[in-house]
Amino acid sequence: MNAGLEILIFLSGTVVGSFLNVCIIRIPQGLSIVNPPSRCASCGARIRFYDNIPIISYLILRARCRDCGAGISIRYPVVEALTGAILLALYWKFGWGAQLPAAFAFAAVLIVVAFIDLEHKIIPDVITLPGTPVFAAAGILIMDLTVWESLAGIAAGAGSLYLIAFIYRLLTKREGMGMGDVKLLAMLGAFLGWQSLLFILFVSSLLGSFAGGLIILAGRGNLKYAVPYGPFLSAAAVAYLFAGREIMQLVLYR
Ligand SMILES: [Zn+2]
Repeated sequence: MNAGLEILIFLSGTVVGSFLNVCIIRIPQGLSIVNPPSRCASCGARIRFYDNIPIISYLILRARCRDCGAGISIRYPVVEALTGAILLALYWKFGWGAQLPAAFAFAAVLIVVAFIDLEHKIIPDVITLPGTPVFAAAGILIMDLTVWESLAGIAAGAGSLYLIAFIYRLLTKREGMGMGDVKLLAMLGAFLGWQSLLFILFVSSLLGSFAGGLIILAGRGNLKYAVPYGPFLSAAAVAYLFAGREIMQLVLYR
């Protein structure tokens, strides 16, 4: 354990998280994620570099734009802290080596997917369509998947969720899951292998039911209230990175 190094790793993660915030805002609008520099969404004032420090600036500015006083969403520091925490936890899990940046890139993409889906109820194809072959390659070359495990993960991922969505629509005459979720699960299967899918479907539906129950208890809607499924799939996939392989090995090869 080296506290200084660990703080540095966490802070590096928050800087990446700051970039993920830009992706979360701009990808649904079809804008470039590298240009132009960040501006206040309300008054258009350019964000000064010293007001762009992850988490800290949000606290110093007390969640207000320095120029116009418009509120800054809590999502910014939440995404930054979450990204920092995940990078640190992945470092504890994988240590130094190629698996750390690969797993972190995967988790970072899922943070973007989850927060876009929460806000817009969509999972952009520009993420999942190129993401599937890229993460298949990373899964095979870096995460020690066989080609078969990754390809079966893509096919079974898309196939199983497509089937669930089809049956759900047949039974309820309602749209329960979108094609965005189907393509997302294909990307998850590509990187984590087919063995991960049972874990991801099980854990995500548990999380989804739990969240749905909370929403009903809070009187914020009923079962028809469409809770996006992408955040739960994403959370379950990140959980799988940490312990899922070990758990599924016990279940499958006992
Ligand atoms: Zn402003």
